[in-house]
Amino acid sequence: MYPFTFTTANDERAAREALTQNAHARFLAGGTTLVDLMKLEVERPTQIVDINALPFASIDELPGGGLRIGALVRNGTLANDPRVRARYPVLSQALLAGESPQVRNMATTGGNLLQRTRCYYFRDTTTPCNKREPGTGCSALQGMNRIHAVLGTSEHCIATHPSDMAVALSALEATVRVHGPKGARAIPLTEFHLVPGAHPERETVLEHGELITSVDLAPLPWATRSLYLKVRDRTSYAFALASAAVALDVANGTIRDARVALGGVGTKPWRAKHAEEVLVGRRIGSAAYQAAAAAALDGAVAHTHNGFKIELAKRTVMRALARVGAMA
Ligand code: SF4
Repeated sequence: MYPFTFTTANDERAAREALTQNAHARFLAGGTTLVDLMKLEVERPTQIVDINALPFASIDELPGGGLRIGALVRNGTLANDPRVRARYPVLSQALLAGESPQVRNMATTGGNLLQRTRCYYFRDTTTPCNKREPGTGCSALQGMNRIHAVLGTSEHCIATHPSDMAVALSALEATVRVHGPKGARAIPLTEFHLVPGAHPERETVLEHGELITSVDLAPLPWATRSLYLKVRDRTSYAFALASAAVALDVANGTIRDARVALGGVGTKPWRAKHAEEVLVGRRIGSAAYQAAAAAALDGAVAHTHNGFKIELAKRTVMRALARVGAMA
């Protein structure tokens, strides 16, 4: 282990200032990613700023029926909130499909958005990895890449984004609210994460010193008809090989609006806008779901061991849509 300083921030300004004064300082919330990665020496911050005392741990009503989820709301609390379960079931289901109960009770909403990939090579400091050490190469390209991404990849990185929660939030068009040295800003969740391109080390649009304060959900009455379906190697405590967050607005058997997002196959939570466009105006049924699934995986690129994910993801989308379509 290496030395670092540990401070507790009692107000937001102190927390942000501590970070802006030290380029190697990190916020600590639930610690379920950061502490793991510090033990592996993948992350080596020189200062830890504990933000758990900040007042961002509530879920509040927004005008019109939306919800503001504080950045420090624990994943377990969010999953079991009666308003979330009733109005945004896809989000509750995604949270319950991820993590063990113990991790769920520690991990926070803001931290979940920032969790880092499970690529084996990223977590092994003896191997080259452009995300961990820019310019060293990508071990997964020629190595074991069964769990890696087929959408949004680059020649520099093919790591999947691991979050289930963020996939549901992408489908729900959530907004991430942040405060930073230059003030406050609101970032659509679909624009919050970055594809790797030539800089896989840069995973979000957050600037150093910016603090996530909340995630806002707009009212979406038809999200009551939504679902998160996750396919994985074992049915508990495993990351997605493929997952789908879907919602359908259906009237008299015709799809008026749709949301489709994918997990386990993209380098970021993958919103499938083209699949949504394919669904709108069509009758519910397997023909529409099949066309949407094909559109969702449009442009997918397989590597040596992960080609099966393309068909698996299509079937996951179709099955999720069929189940939501049947809720009519
Ligand atoms: Fe590193 Fe990305 Fe390659 Fe994994 S896929 S070894 S995270 S560069």
